[in-house]
Amino acid sequence: MNVHSCIFCRIIARSAPAFLLCEDEHSLAFMDINPVAPGHALIVSKTHAETIFDLPIPDLQAVSATVKKVAQAVNSALLPDGISVVQSNGRGAAQSVLHFHMHVVPRTMDDGLLLNWSLRPGELSAIEAMAERIRAYL
Ligand code: 5GP
Ligand code: ZN
Repeated sequence: MNVHSCIFCRIIARSAPAFLLCEDEHSLAFMDINPVAPGHALIVSKTHAETIFDLPIPDLQAVSATVKKVAQAVNSALLPDGISVVQSNGRGAAQSVLHFHMHVVPRTMDDGLLLNWSLRPGELSAIEAMAERIRAYL
């Protein structure tokens, strides 16, 4: 896996587009392109590591700090009933992109969300509007 074959490495390198939220030296946050709920965001490590087993602790700490920041912004912007932070490792956990990432998923009461959700493309204008609302709190 290298910067050309990994979609998240390409987003980090700005060679693939994404609705970016914020970043620091070791992590980058952007909107998920198949949102399971409006406002679904991803936080990735800038280092390419497939899973939590491969990721150095300082990178995990940076991702975690950005998760907290983004979750607070999503909470302020969208006022959801709750927020789930989800992170999957390996095919058995339905990890579909083999570059470490954490999901910030706004929840609504009784949304019935299952953890192994299927990927359904979102509407770009709706995802972009969500990014703007969240960025206002970052
Ligand atoms: P996983 O299933 O590995 O936990 O989550 C991978 C996530 O990456 C999925 O929710 C999927 O929608 C998202 N994703 C896959 N390709 C792209 C892409 O090119 N751009 C963005 N923004 N998200 C992506
Ligand atoms: Zn990568």
